[in-house]
Amino acid sequence: KSDGGGGLNGTEKEFEKALRPLSFEDFTGQHKVVENIKVFVQAAKQRGEPLDHVLLHGPPGLGKTTLSNIIANELQANIKITSGPVLDKPSDLAGLLTNLETNDVLFIDEIHRLNPVVEEYLYSAMEDFRIDIMLDSGPNARSVQIGLSPFTLIGATTRAGLLTSPLRARFGINARLEYYDSTLLTRIVNRSAQILKTPIEADAAFEIARRSRGTPRIANTLLRRTRDFAQIKGNGTIDKSIAQIALTALDVDENGLDEMDNRILLTIIEKFKGGPVGLTTIATAVGEEAETIEEVYEPFLIQEGYLKRTSRGRETTELAYRHLKLPPPASKGP
Ligand code: ADP
Repeated sequence: KSDGGGGLNGTEKEFEKALRPLSFEDFTGQHKVVENIKVFVQAAKQRGEPLDHVLLHGPPGLGKTTLSNIIANELQANIKITSGPVLDKPSDLAGLLTNLETNDVLFIDEIHRLNPVVEEYLYSAMEDFRIDIMLDSGPNARSVQIGLSPFTLIGATTRAGLLTSPLRARFGINARLEYYDSTLLTRIVNRSAQILKTPIEADAAFEIARRSRGTPRIANTLLRRTRDFAQIKGNGTIDKSIAQIALTALDVDENGLDEMDNRILLTIIEKFKGGPVGLTTIATAVGEEAETIEEVYEPFLIQEGYLKRTSRGRETTELAYRHLKLPPPASKGP
């Protein structure tokens, strides 16, 4: 994963698994999306049919994988998990598809990064539950049709805009996950602390929540790190002052922006007079991939009002100057 799940080692993966909600009841927020999906799941189950194919999109760490697992749980179906870049050849996909049982879920993360040849095979699989496989090549080449068990494809993507239209058209359910507000994230932090058996004070949970970039995965990561500080520098309980010490040590600032967020803003201001400046130019200047900036950093900076996207590129707002304690730009008007 290129999305912040990237650097996880074994123990952290275990944590992520332990903290992952298993039912709709445990899944906080995204109310509208969840209520709709519940209806579709129930209806499909009642009819004994597979759930329509689902496309989940939104920034990393908001719960796309979690929700997919919950959907499979609620369908009482198995889930097979893979990702776009891993499915190299049609035979990789065929192997997965032919092993699915009736009404199972196939989850493809980063579905916008599917190899076009593989994607082509997916069309008939999604539409008619069959795939055509080429046997041999040259004069002996012939194709055989293989029937598949009815299944549900759940595709996850950080960038719905990058999906080809034939692929997008084959999803009957399309849901966008949004950033979480501090109240929801506080609930998630408290729930996770309980699972980790770490005592946490209410204002400390809120402090971690409001500085988590609207993202449950980040909230959980900050909670785990804060727990370390509480254990070593405190008495084991996470209170607000321990939370503040930990967040500062982790380079999460007062408004919840991390080091790269701030570097992006500062670079646009200092090197490009506040913009407008193109994405690739920013990427080179800050030493991060353009794709990561576009998928991970920029959506949050835009939502929070630090950055604007214009036809000529990215521009910092007055709020960005205030945040960085820099004098606002000289008025551009007369
Ligand atoms: P994505 O697939 O969108 O990148 P994940 O589903 O992997 O995100 O979520 C990352 C972590 O955040 C999960 O392990 C889970 O613990 C937590 N999480 C995500 N969404 C929620 C939620 N709505 N409620 C509680 N925890 C959540």
